[in-house]
Amino acid sequence: MAQKGQLSEDEKFLFVDKNFINSPVAQADWAAKKLVWIPSEKQGFEAASIKEEKGDEVIVELVENGKKVTVGKDDIQKMNPPKFSKVEDMAELTCLNEASVLHNLRERYFSGLIYTYSGLFCVVINPYKQLPIYSEKIVEMYKGKKRHEMPPHIYAIADTAYRSMLQDREDQSILCTGESGAGKTENTKKVIQYLAVVASSHKGKKDTSITGELEKQLLQANPILEAFGNAKTVKNDNSSRFGKFIRINFDVTGYIVGANIETYLLEKSRAIRQARDERTFHIFYYLIAGAKDKMKNDLLLEGFNNYTFLSNGFVPIPAAQDDEMFQETLEAMGIMGFSEEEQLSVLKVVSSVLQLGNIVFKKERNTDQASMPDNTAAQKVCHLMGINVTDFTRSILTPRIKVGRDVVQKAQTKEQNNPPGVLALLDEECWFPKATDKSFVEKLCSEQGNHPKFQKPKQLKDKTEFSIIHYAGKQRQAKAVPSRTYSWNSVTMSERTRPFRHSGPLRISQVDNTWKAAPQHLPSPTARGQALAPEERPGDAGPRGLALWPIGVEGPLVGQRLTPPSMCPTVDRIVGLDQMAKMTESSLPSASKTKKGMFRTVGQLYKEQLGKLMTTLRNTTPNFVRCIIPNHEKRVRPPAGPSGMQTVPLGKGRADAGRGARSEPDPRLARGLARSRHSVTIRASGKNKQVVAREELDDEIAQKNNALKKIRELEGHISDLQEDLDSERAARN
Ligand code: ATP
Ligand code: MG
Repeated sequence: MAQKGQLSEDEKFLFVDKNFINSPVAQADWAAKKLVWIPSEKQGFEAASIKEEKGDEVIVELVENGKKVTVGKDDIQKMNPPKFSKVEDMAELTCLNEASVLHNLRERYFSGLIYTYSGLFCVVINPYKQLPIYSEKIVEMYKGKKRHEMPPHIYAIADTAYRSMLQDREDQSILCTGESGAGKTENTKKVIQYLAVVASSHKGKKDTSITGELEKQLLQANPILEAFGNAKTVKNDNSSRFGKFIRINFDVTGYIVGANIETYLLEKSRAIRQARDERTFHIFYYLIAGAKDKMKNDLLLEGFNNYTFLSNGFVPIPAAQDDEMFQETLEAMGIMGFSEEEQLSVLKVVSSVLQLGNIVFKKERNTDQASMPDNTAAQKVCHLMGINVTDFTRSILTPRIKVGRDVVQKAQTKEQNNPPGVLALLDEECWFPKATDKSFVEKLCSEQGNHPKFQKPKQLKDKTEFSIIHYAGKQRQAKAVPSRTYSWNSVTMSERTRPFRHSGPLRISQVDNTWKAAPQHLPSPTARGQALAPEERPGDAGPRGLALWPIGVEGPLVGQRLTPPSMCPTVDRIVGLDQMAKMTESSLPSASKTKKGMFRTVGQLYKEQLGKLMTTLRNTTPNFVRCIIPNHEKRVRPPAGPSGMQTVPLGKGRADAGRGARSEPDPRLARGLARSRHSVTIRASGKNKQVVAREELDDEIAQKNNALKKIRELEGHISDLQEDLDSERAARN
C-alpha cells in the first residue's frame, strides 16, 4: 500500500492514513469475535459476530446493535482481517467476496479516497465535488511512477498506458464505463489533461505555460463538443448525448503529434422536444443567455419562451451560468482556430434551428397539400442562412425528389413536414443504455403524440403499445380505400433490433459473459497491431496511439460480479464486442441489405462506425476505468473515516454540482452501493428502542416516497389526458 509520513491536505484524498490501520486491537477483536458479513436489507451487508452454528444455519450478533439474528450458512461471507482495511487493490484481499469488495470501496469513499483498483480495473466513485487531486503538483507526483508506488488514480492509469505504449510499442486504449452521471466524461478529461502535460513537447519553455498549442487544442475541443452535444438530463446536469472516441497520436519520442475525435449518434430528437426537467443541448441556452446586444440583433435572437423547440422554456442548471459558459465556448472555438466570422456562422445555424421550430404548417382545404400561412419564422431562417425565402418555402412544401431519371416536385402534407419518424427514434433509443420498450414508446408519444396517424396506448396499463394508421393506398384515395390501423407492441419492434441495441453502449455484464463464453476466439498475440490499415496508423515509427472511449453501462457495479484478477480482461477478450457488432448485421430495423451507395439507415451507419471502432480497439491493449454513482441525488458523501473528506472551495463549472448538498451521513447511500442480490430471512430476536425508532423513520421515508411516486404517476396521466384533449381539439379545428 502506498504510504506517506505526514499527509498534506491534498494527499489526504489519495493516501490512507497509516495511523489508522494495522491496529493490534482491531486485529484481536476480529479474531476473537469471529466477524463475518451477513446480508442486510438496508446496508447491503453488515458486520456480525458468529455465536452459534446449527446445521445449515448460524446465529450471529450484529456488531451495530447487538441484535441476534439467524442466517443461512450460505449467506455468510468471510470478513478480511483489519490489516486489509482500505486496501488500494482489492485483488490483494484474502477473502475476495462481494461484501468485502463493497465494504472496501465504501470505507475508502467515506474517507475521501475515490479511486480503488480491482485487479486491472480502476474503480472510481463520483465524489460530486471538486477534490484537490487533479492539480499540476499531483500530475508531477504520478509522472513515470509504477502503479504500486502511488495510490490509485486515473493519472496512474493514464501513465501506465502511456509508458506501455512507449516501451512495448503497442497501441493502448482507456475505456471508461459506467451509468449516466457516474463520471466517464470527467475521468476522460482528466486523462487528456494528464497526457497534455506529460506528453507535451512544450514543457519547460519559458514563454508558454506547461502545455503547448496542440495540447491546448486537445483540451479545448471538449468544451465545444459538450456545448453542442451535452444536455441536462434528470440523471446528469452535463450528460453526453453522443458517443465519443478520442484518438491521440504520439511521435517516437512520446510527444503528442495530433488527435482526432470521432462521434457517434447524437440524440437529435432532443433538439426538438425535451422531457420534463430536462434541457436541449447546452449551446441553445448559452447563446440566448450569453449573446451581447449586437449579436442578439444579428442573430435575431428571442426570449426562451418564444421558441417551440425549447419545450420547457428556460431550465437552469445549479451552479452553472449559461452566459459564462457561452464565453468559454467562444474562447474554445477561438483556440481551435475558428475565425470570428466562422464562429458567427456556426451560431447562425444554432439560431436558425430554433427558428425552424417556429414555422407552422397548415393543411389546405380540400387537399392534402401543406401550406405556411405565416412565413415570419421562415424569413428569419432564410435571413440567417442567407437563402431565398421563396426557394426555401417551395423546397419545404413541394420538395424535389428523384423518380427514376427525372426530378419531380412532390407535395408534402402538413404531417410530412413533424420530424423525427418512428424508425429514427427507435434507432436513436437503441443507443441508450437505459432504454426500455416503455421509454421508447414514451419518447414516441412525446414526439409523435399529436400526429393524426399515430395512436397512443389507450390502455395505460400497457405502455409498450402504440398504433399507426397506415393507408392502404395513395393518400388521394384515402377515403375510398379504408385506412388500416396496426397496433405495434414495442417489445416486438425492438425485439428485432435487440442485438443492435446491445451493440450500442456496452453493458459490462454482457461483455463479461461474452468473454467467458468465447475464449476460443482469442486472436493470437501476433495478430495484434496488424489489422490497422496503414493509413490508420499514426506514423511509420510504429504503433503509438492512445484511444479513450467512454461507454455507457447499465446499472451499478454491485449486482454484477467483480471480475476476479485472474479473469481480468485482456485485449483478446475484446473479441466479444466484435461479435456483438456482427450480430447487428442481420437485425437492423429496416432495409439492411442495401447495395453499396444506396440509402442507409442511421442504424447501419452506426453499425459500420461501431465495426471500425471494434477493429481499432481490438488492436490495442485496453485499460479499464469503471465509474460508479454513489447516489441518485448528486449528493456529496461526507467523511466517516479518520482521514476526513474536507470541503474544498469549489471552482466554476459543473464539477461542483454538489454545492449546498446535505452533508450528514445517510445509510441509503450505502444501500445504493450495496444492493444485495441475496434473499435471506433474518429473524430478529429482541429490538431495542433505537432500532424501532429507525425502522419507523425508514417506514415514513418509504411511505413518502410511495406517495411521491403516485403523484408523479398521476401527473403523467394528467399530462397524457391533456395531450389527448389537445389533439382532439386540433383534429376538430
Ligand atoms: P453520461 O453518460 O450522462 O454522459 P458521465 O458518466 O459522462 O455521464 P460525467 O458527466 O462525467 O458523467 O459526471 C457527471 C457529473 O458528476 C459531473 O458533471 C461532475 O459534476 C460530477 N463528477 C464526476 N466525476 C467527478 C470527479 N472526479 N470529481 C468531481 N466531480 C465529478
Ligand atoms: Mg458523459
